[in-house]
Amino acid sequence: MDSVTASGPPSSINSPEHSRGRLFVVAGPSGVGKDTLIGELLGRWPFYLSVSATTRPPRPDEVNGRDYIFLSDADFDQWIVDNRFLEWAEFSGSRYGSPLQPVDEHLAAGTDVVLEIEVQGAMQIKQRVPEAVFVFIEPPSLEVLEARLAGRGDTGDIESRLERARVEMDLADEFDHRIVNEVLSDAVARLLFVVARSEGSNNDHTVD
Ligand code: ADP
Ligand code: 5GP
Repeated sequence: MDSVTASGPPSSINSPEHSRGRLFVVAGPSGVGKDTLIGELLGRWPFYLSVSATTRPPRPDEVNGRDYIFLSDADFDQWIVDNRFLEWAEFSGSRYGSPLQPVDEHLAAGTDVVLEIEVQGAMQIKQRVPEAVFVFIEPPSLEVLEARLAGRGDTGDIESRLERARVEMDLADEFDHRIVNEVLSDAVARLLFVVARSEGSNNDHTVD
């Protein structure tokens, strides 16, 4: 991780070389459908999806290292001290962060990278990697969002996630692109369109 510095961004992340991958930051309220949308992109566009670290306990179907890197509070603290995060933030009583090294390595190798994160983290990346492409996914309404959270099986913290959603939606104007996830196939097409037209695209993915 020789490109990491304590005082600023890793030099290679901001490098203007054209062969580097592009960094896409996809944010939006929990339950809006970010995972679902990004899942639909698999096979239609070659990209690396960053695996975040979190102090939240795993959900029953989640696998350590695939869905998240599950860390204790003490280990998360140590990762912060060691500058292992590109960004990190608190959400609903837990901490979440994007590991820097894999992101840096994939971009350097020319692979596009997607971060699926909440808004505070996206704002940190805006400061640190301003050339990244920022996409905000919106629900058709808060009622629909609540139904999606419940439909996914969330129970205890739906109210706090909805409260947070209101705050996040106030920051939507800070993003380069806003996509309403109402009809999934429409939202997928819009996201692919953003990918295709973003600077540096080699247009080798499908847009319909
Ligand atoms: P996020 O990653 O933003 O927290 P998820 O991808 O887990 O959200 O989606 C939350 C729930 O909403 C899931 O049950 C998912 O199947 C559902 N969902 C996602 N997009 C749509 C859509 N366009 N229409 C209806 N349900 C959706
Ligand atoms: P969940 O607990 O539903 O998996 O995630 C809660 C929220 O944390 C979601 O909005 C998700 O996008 C966000 N999140 C996941 N990983 C990261 C990360 O690495 N950094 C930040 N800032 N947010 C994250």
